[in-house]
Amino acid sequence: MSSFGFKRKTIGLRKLFGIRARLALLALILVTPLMLERARSLEEARNKQIALAYSEFSRIAQQSADSEREAISSVETVLKSAAHIQASKKNSDPSCDTLSASLPVSLPWIRNLAIVSSEGRIKCATLDTLIGLDLSDRDYFRRARQAHDLIFSDFLLSKYDNEPVVMAAYPVAAVNPESDLFIVASVNLGWMSTVMNDLSDRRGIMAFLLDSAGTVMAAPTDLARLVGHPLNSVPALAAAATRAINPDQPSGMFSFPAPDGAKLTLSFSRIPGAQSRMVLIVDEARVAAGINRDIRNAYYQLALVCLIVLLGALIAAETLIIRPIRKLVAVARRVGEGEWSVRASDSPLPAEFAPLARAFDRMAGQLSERERELIASNDRLTVMASIDMLSGLANRRGFQSRLDFEWAKAAQSNGELSLLMIDVDYFKLFNDTYGHPEGDACLSRIGETLSQIALATSGFAARYGGEEFCLLIPNTDASHALEIGEMVRETVLNLDILHATSAYQAVTVSVGVASLRPNTALNPNDLLEAADASLYIAKRQGRNRVAEHGLAQAGENGGAVALAG
Ligand code: GH3
Ligand code: MG
Ligand code: MG
Repeated sequence: MSSFGFKRKTIGLRKLFGIRARLALLALILVTPLMLERARSLEEARNKQIALAYSEFSRIAQQSADSEREAISSVETVLKSAAHIQASKKNSDPSCDTLSASLPVSLPWIRNLAIVSSEGRIKCATLDTLIGLDLSDRDYFRRARQAHDLIFSDFLLSKYDNEPVVMAAYPVAAVNPESDLFIVASVNLGWMSTVMNDLSDRRGIMAFLLDSAGTVMAAPTDLARLVGHPLNSVPALAAAATRAINPDQPSGMFSFPAPDGAKLTLSFSRIPGAQSRMVLIVDEARVAAGINRDIRNAYYQLALVCLIVLLGALIAAETLIIRPIRKLVAVARRVGEGEWSVRASDSPLPAEFAPLARAFDRMAGQLSERERELIASNDRLTVMASIDMLSGLANRRGFQSRLDFEWAKAAQSNGELSLLMIDVDYFKLFNDTYGHPEGDACLSRIGETLSQIALATSGFAARYGGEEFCLLIPNTDASHALEIGEMVRETVLNLDILHATSAYQAVTVSVGVASLRPNTALNPNDLLEAADASLYIAKRQGRNRVAEHGLAQAGENGGAVALAG
């Protein structure tokens, strides 16, 4: 990865971890343990609720089984007491009156009682229409005859009215071996189903009472259509039902998958005293669905709380931190733009920012003070940078900018511009004779002189370098410039500075004069070169004189500056 790409990524990350993100992160760090704790307690509550649901199911199943068992044992009691009554009678002729008397009215699950002969013919019954019916072909009757004990039938349709019933047969011989009669009761299955209705209003739970062959004898109302049908005729329950009616296993519990993938748990238990079995099928997902929904809602609430906390953190970050920072930034920007009077402490800021604002204002005040000083010293430096300290005149740099300025001005007004190039004669010899300090003093005096002349002629004097000076005179033609040149030469001579090694015995200057009318074909250098050429002529002619150069204006004939000395 290039270092550029890396930098960009770093900047991106920094932006990502700006104050807002940091505060949001802080809020999250604070909220997360609470959230986790809440999630943990919700999960715990969920598991508890599911466990509770299961224990309630098994309690209800137990209760149902108990009810069924109670029904069966009360049937048994009724049959046995009827058998006792029958056995105690001297003659074996059954009496329907005593039979009716032995049937307690309060037992809703016994539809009727009958005394049956050993051949299977009903001799007497609580319902007269049953008398004479032949039960010898019934399996339960045959089994009771063989077993000499109480026998319950599997699911049956009543011979009398085709209603679903379970029959119970008890041989009187069990009480009195001399008797060959049987007490037979038909047990109302509809009532058994109502016992199980308790379970039907629970979502995801199915309860059945099966006979030994696996036929549904009783079921809650919503599953009543299955009564009379083998449970394994329901395709989804076939395998599980077959397993549940295994006669070798009195009770058990196992899980199996429903066709839709749901996990079902089946528990079964045999009801003592009968061949029937109580079967309970629980759809865990449906049982858990309600609980899960509650838990999900709790999670949504939790998420909402988190969102509110995050939003709160962001709003707090915005109003408490970002906004004051923005205000400070705006003030800093205005200060940066030179608005020194603006103060951060003027705008309302949170108390925590007040020291920062005061420090900022102090800094802005100091900065403005420093800038004023800087501007002043810059001005001084600029002036110093264009002044020659020895002569007090402008230096070459100062001269150059003045020349450019006067050049532009003259070009605009089509005025004439003259330049005098002034060089001290035999100055090396002067130095050699009188020493450098004396040379400096001499240059200083000449500078002073030129300054006065410049003042008098509206010119601009400068020390061009070494012992060389120049005088720029705007709006002045060649002849006037020559006059001024002469004035310069004469004034310097009249200073009467002794120069023993000069041909003139005094300090003198040679002056080269050049004048022109600036135009676009010329440039300031042309004027300098012309003045320099004139000076050269003056030197060649013997020094201490003024020379002017006949300058053929380039602008007039299109060529470069031509000198005619
Ligand atoms: P010419 O007449 O041809 O101009 O001869 P000159 O000796 O004046 O010219 P030259 O160029 O040979 O020497 C110039 C001298 O000016 C040499 C240098 O020592 C002297 N000089 C230049 N600047 C200063 C200065 O600031 N102070 C002093 N004392 N001398 C300077
Ligand atoms: Mg010189
Ligand atoms: Mg010289």
